[in-house]
Amino acid sequence: MSSSTKSGEGSPTGTGITWGLRPIEGGPSDIPLVPGELQELIPGVIRILAPNAGFFTGPGTNTYVVGGESAIVIDPAGTDESHVAAIKNAISNRQVIGVLATHHHSDHAPGAKALADDLGVPFMAHPAKLEPDVALADEMEIDGLDSEVVALHTPGHASDHICLFFPHTGLFFSGDHLMGGSTVVISPPDGDMAAYIDSVKRLKTLGIETIMPGHGQPIYEPDVLLDWYIAHRMEREEQVLSLLDSTGVSIVSMVAEMYSDIPEAAHRVAAMSVWAHLIKLEGEGRARLASGEGAASTWCKIGDVV
Ligand SMILES: [Zn+2]
Repeated sequence: MSSSTKSGEGSPTGTGITWGLRPIEGGPSDIPLVPGELQELIPGVIRILAPNAGFFTGPGTNTYVVGGESAIVIDPAGTDESHVAAIKNAISNRQVIGVLATHHHSDHAPGAKALADDLGVPFMAHPAKLEPDVALADEMEIDGLDSEVVALHTPGHASDHICLFFPHTGLFFSGDHLMGGSTVVISPPDGDMAAYIDSVKRLKTLGIETIMPGHGQPIYEPDVLLDWYIAHRMEREEQVLSLLDSTGVSIVSMVAEMYSDIPEAAHRVAAMSVWAHLIKLEGEGRARLASGEGAASTWCKIGDVV
């Protein structure tokens, strides 16, 4: 899922893309995102775009078939027959070791169990929200591929979010933890802003070379994106703090102030991000809930009130 960025200021590509609001622009080396096509992005990585483009999915969900003679399927998305057929075409005569869902959201996981059963291989996921055959955990190695691959638990966008890292090549499959051309929606209560920022910061030490996201194009300058993601969240947090006072400010009014340049239809999504920031600030003793619930709540600042 995606959220708004403000007028493109400070976005890593300078485009300020917001799915559903502005078009996706690919880099010069990007292969156009076309549903159903088998696209070998780099040797050993085939992308098949699911036919589920939309406000929350951007151009659609990227399904990946990764590996050589043995391969793993990542995020088969839904159960659309043409998409399942395209995934099977991409698999061809490869030996599949498993079908993995990065997280439980409806644009990633629903087709995973059925496809795994159909192929006679295990369904792999973190067990917090799904019932996988192989329960993935942080830093768990997945056996059976030609190269080493490690699952990383990256809560924030979703509590059960898993990324896959190939340490020898620096390839990183990010699911919805990082996106090509958009920020990520953090939607409480399952979404957790503090956990999200920690999960992004952690990636800076891994040696990632290329990010293959769950939506959008590959990202070839991971450090630029990671730094921008962290800076963007900190900037938003500062904005939230600057708008808060000791008497109480509603999320609705904060969103109107912070997101004045995007259509009101997107304000509901923006409100989730503001709420997520407030919960983080509450955990740090810098804000408190005054009244109301969720995106309809009102919050006060603690300390440093001018
Ligand atoms: Zn998604």
